[in-house]
Amino acid sequence: MKIGVLASQGAFAEHIATLHRLEVDTTPVRLTRHLTSLDGLIIPGGESTSISKLMLGYDLMDEIRNLAKNGLPILGTCAGMILLAKKIPDSDTEPIGVMGITARRNAFGRQKDSFETDLSIPVLGEKPFPGIFIRAPLIEQVNDGVEILARLADYTIVAARQEKLVAAAFHPELTDDMRFHRYFLDIVTGDR
Ligand code: GLN
Repeated sequence: MKIGVLASQGAFAEHIATLHRLEVDTTPVRLTRHLTSLDGLIIPGGESTSISKLMLGYDLMDEIRNLAKNGLPILGTCAGMILLAKKIPDSDTEPIGVMGITARRNAFGRQKDSFETDLSIPVLGEKPFPGIFIRAPLIEQVNDGVEILARLADYTIVAARQEKLVAAAFHPELTDDMRFHRYFLDIVTGDR
């Protein structure tokens, strides 16, 4: 199994480190040729506008969109989640746009720009998952066919799955808890 991590901008090194700890073969993706023979792709957090521009500039946008449409498993975290969304209200950023969710950017206001909270994520088991939110988006709406994986205590949706696409508003690569990455790898191998 080989998992690519989009390495245009943002927190890609942390995802690569987590995959190494899970002993998964991984490659940073900066050019279209890095997309060949991948079993899955991670789009990290960072600045969604910059990542989108870099993807367009390096011809990665259409390639990744087509791979997603052809069933490549993709995990998008934070800015990566925004880029998976079909809709980003009040934003000119071009998303990959393959997941039936609406992602509201910088949704948590100033004081709560960044926070950490225990999340209940039923697909990961009973133990709470440490949710690290950094100028995080939220999922405002989900279309049919999208499974909600996690909500905050006030019911805000913060993680979802659509077939082999997984989106999280938080940063699972910044905790020692590797269950979210394992969950994605189980989707890649077809065990979930
Ligand atoms: N605020 C960023 C954006 O809108 C996302 C933040 C993150 O990825 N940590 O793109």
